[in-house]
Amino acid sequence: MDTVLTNVELEEQMVNDAFQHLIDCYLASKHRKKVDIITKAFNFAKHAHKGVRRLSGEPYIMHPIAVAQIVCSEIGLGSTSICSALLHDVVEDTDYTVEDIENMFGAKIAQIVDGLTKISGGIFGDHASAQAENFKKLLLTMSDDIRVIIIKIADRLHNMRTLGSQAVNKQYKIAGETLYIYAPLANRLGLNSIKTELEDLSFKFEHPEEYANISKKLEATKIERDTVFDEFAAPIRTQLDDLGISYEIKQRIKSPYSIWHKMQTKQIPFEEIYDILAVRIIFDPVEIDTELNDCFDIYVKLCKIYKSHPNRTRDWVSHPKANGYQALHVTLMSKQGEWIEVQIRSRRMNDIAEKGFAAHWKYKDGEKTETASEQELDKWLSTIKEILDDPQPDAMDFLDTIKLNLFASEIFVFTPKGEIRTMPAGSTTLDFAFSIHTFVGSHCIGAKVNHKLVPINHKLNSGDQVEILTSKSAHPTREWLSIATTAKATTKILSILRKEERESRKKGEEMLDEFLRKNEIEKNTLIIEKLCNLYDISKSDALYVAIAEGSVKLTQADANALKDKEELAGWKKLFSFGRKVMKQDKKKGKEVVGQGFDRKKALVLTEDSVQNKYTLCECCKPIPGDSVMGYIDDDKHIVIHKLQCPNAEKLKANHGNRVLAAQWSMGRILLFPVSIRVKGFDKLGLLHDMTQVISQIHSTNINKLEVECNNGIFECKIQMYVHDAKEVQDIIASLRDIPDVKEASRI
Ligand code: MN
Repeated sequence: MDTVLTNVELEEQMVNDAFQHLIDCYLASKHRKKVDIITKAFNFAKHAHKGVRRLSGEPYIMHPIAVAQIVCSEIGLGSTSICSALLHDVVEDTDYTVEDIENMFGAKIAQIVDGLTKISGGIFGDHASAQAENFKKLLLTMSDDIRVIIIKIADRLHNMRTLGSQAVNKQYKIAGETLYIYAPLANRLGLNSIKTELEDLSFKFEHPEEYANISKKLEATKIERDTVFDEFAAPIRTQLDDLGISYEIKQRIKSPYSIWHKMQTKQIPFEEIYDILAVRIIFDPVEIDTELNDCFDIYVKLCKIYKSHPNRTRDWVSHPKANGYQALHVTLMSKQGEWIEVQIRSRRMNDIAEKGFAAHWKYKDGEKTETASEQELDKWLSTIKEILDDPQPDAMDFLDTIKLNLFASEIFVFTPKGEIRTMPAGSTTLDFAFSIHTFVGSHCIGAKVNHKLVPINHKLNSGDQVEILTSKSAHPTREWLSIATTAKATTKILSILRKEERESRKKGEEMLDEFLRKNEIEKNTLIIEKLCNLYDISKSDALYVAIAEGSVKLTQADANALKDKEELAGWKKLFSFGRKVMKQDKKKGKEVVGQGFDRKKALVLTEDSVQNKYTLCECCKPIPGDSVMGYIDDDKHIVIHKLQCPNAEKLKANHGNRVLAAQWSMGRILLFPVSIRVKGFDKLGLLHDMTQVISQIHSTNINKLEVECNNGIFECKIQMYVHDAKEVQDIIASLRDIPDVKEASRI
């Protein structure tokens, strides 16, 4: 009885047949038999793409099945890759999310699908061909799983195989992209047959007439080539049969694209391409460790029949290429008087050359220079090769542990519009802002990286999408110089700072002139030098800036001091005396440190004196170990300041005679309060880690703790009691060792 199937049923059958074929191929491979999860992925994808058709009219699910088929039979990957290939368009084209995939298929598959979604369309879709160079590198850096790239290449291969149903202008775009991006990538990964097919398909769509021409000529010369091959191969077969190994002897025909490429680069017609035919001998060694000898045994047999070209024998058997390619190449003179190349390979060598990741990636690449990144790639590829050379059933699981970390010196980040920008590794948000525009950089207050708020010192990673936030009130400070890492940002910040300094210098000088005029003091170098000395400033320019910025406020006291003729004269003497001392000491080569103001004996700070005689300054809170000085205040009381204390600096300058040298002499008995500030990224357990470091490792008591969290940035102020400065430094060093702590310093 005839069963008449409806169209729907026919389609259903076509889909199921295609999937069954995939499963059959998978089961015939060496992989573990995880049919269940593959079937689950198929059913889910089929449901997700339900009702959608490709331009060819086929149900959409035929595309993921075809991609999975390529991944399985043409590249030889296992269940994780097959599932990811089946699901590769689900997140991009349907309402399902990466989280849905993760819930159903686990983190690994979800991560690969996520990578594939990002690459296609996603954040930089239309920019791919415009920025092809970056795109190529990006593919390699962004995907920390090589399978993302491999599945992407399989996806592209199927799209190229079905490119006929696209509009012509799209065909050009896709073919161009394929030739420029995907074929070289496939080549680098050693996917040699896929690379050749991608090139030929691109060539066919980009130059249909030339493609047709070359194909026609190849067809027309086929019988001739077959005859040459048969006559050439016949005596070889006899010799190899003698050897008693099983072998295959095949024609290797140069691809239409390669022929065309050679015609273009050498400017020769088709008829002058002599290496269209090569011969490949693929043998199964009796045992694995005989394959080397077998190659040479075959070679010797060949040389008995034909004369070999003296300069064209290539021994890549005992000396494999850097990428792992192994074969013995020899060029022989045929009876017809033509040189023919013969490639001798074992089955294993052939598999790696055709499918393996390691093979061929540099072969005929046209790239002569080996950059550091290529060496890294090389190293990485040889790791892959090792895995592939040792075909354990679950060998592919090892791919999980291999992370791509190529081109480590560059990162790739996106603007909100999806443009790709290359930045040096280690670049901060601020660097990126300056790379966009000086205005954006100089008004940067932070950024949204992948939609999360970060500060200007946030370090960017490859694949980050960065939206710079600006504010009119923001402007560069000296601190920015330690945040910027790129030359561009640093130069811009410096020039802005210099410009601002020029302006405030001018303003400060005007303010000083006004002050002197008001007080009827004549402006001269001596006056300026005295003012500088009063405020312990070395140069007049710095004095003007300080006046403009308000850190030096000119008062009546200053005016009086300047007007005082006697003091001025005395100071003048001191000034020239000081200079003389400096000169003399320079001649003798003696140290002059401290000679300026340290004429009195140094104070000795002991437990007793610190508690009973002296006061520790409230503003700078010195602790043992800090460089300090004493100062006799108006009540004849001695206050201990840190040398860097801003108040102390002023005192030193104005009342040098009241300053006393001081030094610590303490046992570790007294405890002093200190505050430190810690900044970092807010992570669960960070506070616990920090208090652990302070109280457990350093046995220091925390007195007060203030925590503030803002947009994932964690800031806290810790007050504790310590013995001395060294102890604080040690604690700060330990805090900085906590991974999410970015800054720690004493306040
Ligand atoms: Mn696709």
